[in-house]
Amino acid sequence: MKKVIIIGGGVIGLCSAYYLIKEGHQVTVIDQSSMDHGASYVNAGYLTPSHFIPLAAPGVMKQGLRSMFDPTSPLVIKPRFNRHFLQWAWAFSRSCSASNVTQSIKIIKDINLWSADLFSEIRSSEGFTFQLENKGLLILCLTEKMLEEELRLYHIASEEGLDVKQLSTSEINTMEPNVTLNAIGAVHYQCDWHTTPHEFMKEMYDWLKTKGVIFYKNEQVVDILATDGVIKKIITSNDSFAGDEFVLAAGSWSDLLSRKLGIRILLEAGKGYRINVDKHTGITIPTVLAEAKVAVTPMNGFTRFAGTMEIAGVNHKINKVRVDAIAEAAHRYYPDISISNDEKEQAACGLRAISPDGKPYIGKSSKCNNLTIATGHAMMGWSMAPATGKLVAEIISEEKPSFDIDPFSPDRLF
Ligand SMILES: Cc1cc2nc3c(=O)[nH]c(=O)nc-3n(C[C@H](O)[C@H](O)[C@H](O)COP(=O)(O)OP(=O)(O)OC[C@H]3O[C@@H](n4cnc5c(N)ncnc54)[C@H](O)[C@@H]3O)c2cc1C
Repeated sequence: MKKVIIIGGGVIGLCSAYYLIKEGHQVTVIDQSSMDHGASYVNAGYLTPSHFIPLAAPGVMKQGLRSMFDPTSPLVIKPRFNRHFLQWAWAFSRSCSASNVTQSIKIIKDINLWSADLFSEIRSSEGFTFQLENKGLLILCLTEKMLEEELRLYHIASEEGLDVKQLSTSEINTMEPNVTLNAIGAVHYQCDWHTTPHEFMKEMYDWLKTKGVIFYKNEQVVDILATDGVIKKIITSNDSFAGDEFVLAAGSWSDLLSRKLGIRILLEAGKGYRINVDKHTGITIPTVLAEAKVAVTPMNGFTRFAGTMEIAGVNHKINKVRVDAIAEAAHRYYPDISISNDEKEQAACGLRAISPDGKPYIGKSSKCNNLTIATGHAMMGWSMAPATGKLVAEIISEEKPSFDIDPFSPDRLF
């Protein structure tokens, strides 16, 4: 049994704690927040084998920079003239290539498929009741150009063995009979699942507490003290903690902490927003509004509209223009749905930790023997969380990982 300290109580931290407890370790989780907001709470709740194309794909860097001054664009990269951003931007730009996409597809697809199975396994073995449904994911297109692009991806997905279908307008209407839709066609990824994030977070937190996991909330890790590549203790705002092993699952803040050890993991924060709509919408199937890049999820008791990837540093400022753009997109695809000012005012945001090549960092850096890094999952951190947690526990227990972790090495070069 090892004494393990996890920095970060988002979904990656909690899933790591889950599998570490299962392996018989003693676990403490430290989080600087009240653990009820941020990326792990505002996300669209998708489990997404369908998202097999990494963010770093040809043209994305250019598109992000071009949209710098467009407040309504779903993807924005705002350049900042500091060394950390410039290193990330250089690596991201190099990764926006066809070869990165080709190398990543199978890896991303397989870890997502495995992780979806683990969500089901956790739910049934612990008797959890969080929403977990397999209605698939509709990718709804308004224009021929977008439909053509989505059909190209549909062919790749079919070749990769994913359960996916092309749908005509009448087939879409048959699937969603209770809402008026504006679309010329769609692709349906039957392989995808969806959840209501806060339900999973609460059930997992409560379960971990009953199993003896100690949580420190509103406690910020401010320093990490190591000698000869071994962490001796971490210093927090109020205390200090010693342990045998440490897990860095601090999302978009992870590189601020790894730098204390001289470990440079390239990360940028990608802000996204969500609007919850409590009134009945008639939407029953999770749907991506393809041109607008808005995710729509029929969650337990409400519908969530989520979107925007704003790479502009670590901040939680709500940009009302971007929130309006999500609401307008919803109305464009669902003409009978209008998101009210009240609903927009309740919008919240979260930060996705973006690695340069679209793959997460899972593993140990060669610079530190007792630190396992688990971050950088970008748009798929929710989906990949159980798989990541299981890999973290296997690494710390010195077992052979169930999945090849070489592509996720924190030491990889871009
Ligand atoms: C709008 C939106 C929609 C999304 N939709 C999906 C989706 O449908 N499917 C999907 O798979 N993914 C989705 N994602 C991405 C997903 O939410 C994230 O990848 C995932 O939540 C990341 O989890 P995490 O635990 O790594 O990070 P976080 O949830 O950010 O948790 C990190 C934690 O570390 C804590 N922390 C940071 N620094 C310190 C410190 N110094 N000391 C102590 N604690 C610290 C923070 O307080 C935080 O609680 C979405 C994200 C957004 C924003």
